Amino acid sequence: MALNRILLYYQFTPLADPEAVRLWQHTLCESLGLRGRIIISKDGINGTVGGELNAIKQYRKKTREYAPFKSMEFKWSEGGAEDFPRLSVKVRDEIVSFGAPGELKVDENGVIGGGVHLKPEQVHEVVDAAKAEGKEVAFFDGRNAFEAQIGKFKNAIVPDVDTTRDFIKEIDSGKYDHLKDQPVITYCTGGIRCEVLSALMKNRGFEEVYQIDGGIVRYGEKYGDSGLWEGSLYVFDQRMHMEFTEDAVTIGKCVNCSAPTNKFENCSNPSCRNLRLFCAECAQDEEALRCPDCVESAHI
Ligand SMILES: [Zn+2]
Ligand SMILES: [Zn+2]
Repeated sequence: MALNRILLYYQFTPLADPEAVRLWQHTLCESLGLRGRIIISKDGINGTVGGELNAIKQYRKKTREYAPFKSMEFKWSEGGAEDFPRLSVKVRDEIVSFGAPGELKVDENGVIGGGVHLKPEQVHEVVDAAKAEGKEVAFFDGRNAFEAQIGKFKNAIVPDVDTTRDFIKEIDSGKYDHLKDQPVITYCTGGIRCEVLSALMKNRGFEEVYQIDGGIVRYGEKYGDSGLWEGSLYVFDQRMHMEFTEDAVTIGKCVNCSAPTNKFENCSNPSCRNLRLFCAECAQDEEALRCPDCVESAHI
């Protein structure tokens, strides 16, 4: 049986000709039988590809031969080409869509003016150092708000955003201005969203901004459920959530009956299909599998 794997990676680096990179990456992936999703912009690359282990290794080697990508970090994950419907390699304005392609500045070392990168153990150092000075560190969730319903850093601030494009409006709202002279640690799944978010926050006057290297994934690998993280991690594949250890607490609640759950399901109303949290029991019952909006409108 052939071994399969998925690679996850990103690099912020200036690309003079994104279209040429796209063509090269597309040809490379196709020749190796890989599937997945790669986004390229003038500011870098962001990809997830799956395939046979040797093909994946070849892909990594070839990709690193291109000077701007020579120090790119690749994360391995279980899975393969079959986890993706097709191969998609696209040029976009941004490799993560904040709606601020003109604001982000990158050089060969990455994003310019972003938050200070912290290794997982340094997260605790920053928290302890702030405590010693009588200050509190604010954990600032860099994901879509619904992801935090099943897991987040303890006492984290969860901005009211449906998509990453809502962040600028949210930060500009003034809601978080009290954090401008406090230490703020931004975090997201794998770290890429915070590369941009932390720079946008610094540009808007947040003075002491940090980001976690490798995001929640790397923090969880190190501390599991015995550190400052609480609950499950939302993941963008069929599993939809993962736990770091058996001790993970279930912080999500069924929108219908409030039972603890970490499982997102689509509302059963065909014209809605909103992703909401449902317990296993309510998920079995088409009547109960209705998001609160649809339950309300049914009573009108
Ligand atoms: Zn329920
Ligand atoms: Zn609904």
